[in-house]
Amino acid sequence: MEIEKILNEISEIENEAKKMIKEITDEKGMEEWRIKFLGRKGKINSITSKLPQIPQELRPEIGKRINSLKKTLINLYNESIKKIKKEEKFENLSFPGKRPKIGTLHPLTLIIREMTDIFFKMGFGIVTGPEIENDYYNFEALNTPEYHPAKSFWDTFYLNEKEKILLRTHTSPVQIRVMERMKPPFKIIAVGRCYRRDALDASHSPVFHQMEGLMVGKDIRFPHLKGVLTYFLHQLFGSEIKIKFSPSYFPFTEPSAEVSISCIICNGKGCSTCGYTGYIEILGCGMVHPQVFRNVGYDPEKVTGFAFGMGVERIAMLKFKIDDIRYFYQNDIRFLNQFG
Ligand SMILES: [Zn+2]
Repeated sequence: MEIEKILNEISEIENEAKKMIKEITDEKGMEEWRIKFLGRKGKINSITSKLPQIPQELRPEIGKRINSLKKTLINLYNESIKKIKKEEKFENLSFPGKRPKIGTLHPLTLIIREMTDIFFKMGFGIVTGPEIENDYYNFEALNTPEYHPAKSFWDTFYLNEKEKILLRTHTSPVQIRVMERMKPPFKIIAVGRCYRRDALDASHSPVFHQMEGLMVGKDIRFPHLKGVLTYFLHQLFGSEIKIKFSPSYFPFTEPSAEVSISCIICNGKGCSTCGYTGYIEILGCGMVHPQVFRNVGYDPEKVTGFAFGMGVERIAMLKFKIDDIRYFYQNDIRFLNQFG
């Protein structure tokens, strides 16, 4: 074999290898390159195998050249693979990272949103009011004067007993504040925290949430109340539930009613949740008492209206099938993670 030919071949291999490696951008390409030039059947081995074909005295010189090329290629390979790995690592930084846990909405927030959305559909507006109230808004304006038995039942946390500043026992004071500011007709819902002197147990909490509604206008009658509440309860619990209105008493409505729905746990067959009656009491309502209208300067001969109120926790417990009210306030992540 001619010396010139083998020397040419060596420099061709070098040129080809250098040219190729410039185009390679990933580890897979590098592996292919390595096999082609440095592999067992690669070009370096193939040219080494030609050594016996050349004159013996020239073999050491040619052997050196081949070895030097081999070293060059190994160095090239090591440099390139290092660079590619670094780039891939850098690229990895743009991969989506581990998402931080962002938490979920509290079940009470979820149920409040669901409930308000239903009333929004019927055109109700939403209002809020102070949680610290005075005796007038919390009791008196709502036709619950000093001597009224309902007052002691609801007696509450007084912040200032002398001035009768207290934590509101219901959201109804918001209704009075709205009526003082607005002229009928209107329909609003009020939602917020309320406070009562109840010991904490599976079904009572000294802090809880209420949602109340009020619709006032000309010729608002009991069938309107039934229509609004029926639509609301069917939307919330499904149209297959049965709804029952029974006579009741509240100082600020006349007539008053309690509304029950067929038990959603046993479908009305009777279970421990519904006390084996098949029905669950869910809210109180009635036509606004004429005295309440007089208290805010409305003429009960000209306007009528209805009001209703319900405990948000109670609705959430039924809807999410939660049997202990305390879960809502314990911030137990295992409980909260199940929502939202
Ligand atoms: Zn039941």
